[in-house]
Amino acid sequence: MSFAELKLHPSLLSAIKELGFTKPTAIQADAIPPGLAGRDLLACAATGSGKTAAFLLPILQRLLDKPRGRTRALVVAPTRELAAQILQDLQDLGVHTPVTGAAIYGGVGMGPQEHALRSGVDVIIACPGRLLDHLKSNYANFDALEVLVLDEADRMLDMGFLPDIKRLLRHLPTKRQTLFFSATMPPPIAQLTREMLKDPVTIALERQSRPATGITQALYPVSQDLKSALLATLLERGDMKEALVFTRTKHRANRLAEFLVKRGLSADRIHGNRSQPQRTAALEGFKNGKIRVLVATDIAARGIDVEELGHVVNFDVPLVPADYIHRIGRTGRAEAVGDAFTFVSREEEGDIGAIEKVLGKRLPRVTVPDFDYNARAEAKLEIPLAERIAQIRAKKAEDRSRSAAKGARRGAGGGGGGSSSGGGRGGAPSGGGGRPGQGGGRGGSGGGRGGQGGGGRGRPGGR
Ligand code: AMP
Repeated sequence: MSFAELKLHPSLLSAIKELGFTKPTAIQADAIPPGLAGRDLLACAATGSGKTAAFLLPILQRLLDKPRGRTRALVVAPTRELAAQILQDLQDLGVHTPVTGAAIYGGVGMGPQEHALRSGVDVIIACPGRLLDHLKSNYANFDALEVLVLDEADRMLDMGFLPDIKRLLRHLPTKRQTLFFSATMPPPIAQLTREMLKDPVTIALERQSRPATGITQALYPVSQDLKSALLATLLERGDMKEALVFTRTKHRANRLAEFLVKRGLSADRIHGNRSQPQRTAALEGFKNGKIRVLVATDIAARGIDVEELGHVVNFDVPLVPADYIHRIGRTGRAEAVGDAFTFVSREEEGDIGAIEKVLGKRLPRVTVPDFDYNARAEAKLEIPLAERIAQIRAKKAEDRSRSAAKGARRGAGGGGGGSSSGGGRGGAPSGGGGRPGQGGGRGGSGGGRGGQGGGGRGRPGGR
């Protein structure tokens, strides 16, 4: 099957060719025809399958010849990184079309996003919390909406977004095409699909929990205290040129990045406590090769898409098998070959057993020849107890003074709406929507994206 056989518009075929995609991935071959035919879709597809183009291409084709100035497609995604990535993909695939897009997420100013909503960019890509904030005002209008995409629905469930999704649906026309993507189908998601989809075409349910092909997976048994040293050794020996490394907690991500930098290895980290500019800088540095190691927590890493990424390291074994699949889906993307190394301490053997059961195979155990498995750890990643208690006390004091200040404000009649999308809720750059007549090309890719979104993909020459 070729892209031409999918009956895509020549301007889309040109962009696909420029991106170097030679043939549709399985999900694209399955999803694009019903997508173009206007059918609802229920697709079980993991990151790395090419699912983004599978929903963006039908949207672009549908909107190509429509008048500009009204938002006709909405993509809802769980994290700001994923939203920024989808916007980037939209701009790449739509580079020869006049279709415009913008991303809406928290953690950055509302102004440019309000502008994008007011001007009616064709495609809005949004995290639910921030979009609901905008919907409190009357400038966000989805009356002309034709297509709704829910991406990584199971992740939205994990992040507690299901009530937000249901609230959001009340603002959208019921007559629309809905494309629903989820890597797994837990019961609340299955229920949501029944509420949202009309006679959907169902795709790839049987492939749900398989990692992308081409990934070489291996386990590295090692004591908890020596994991950092093992990682540094693998990098120093050149076994890995660069790596996306997952840790269980933000704190471990910080300490590991510090440890690597001290060993003279360039590293940065990305997690929920990092500001948007910090995340963007870390991602950019990783994509353009300035840093070799990007340490990430799971949620922050959603949607990271680094082309030709060679290695994913699970520094800690994921507690849930589905997370393992998601993580390693970041390497071996769309048929490339990558490695996924998982460091397993004795305490984590049980979790690995569960993962192997889902994979249906035992993963090879690897011992690194000249690594001293009996060495004493140079530094522990966990914070000493006294320090941790001091941190908890400081946080409590801060919370107390914040709630006292809030109480005082309320007493003074302050109140006010408050922005909901706080904390870890996604939030992102506005991609800025180029308006019709503004030179046709990729709608507004410049404007709002700069510095905030981290959307770029590090493709050679591609921005
Ligand atoms: P996704 O699953 O949408 O996150 O896409 C995974 C990666 O595969 C991205 O880097 C895409 O640019 C890439 N990709 C998508 N479709 C194709 C294709 N047909 N051929 C090669 N690479 C693709």
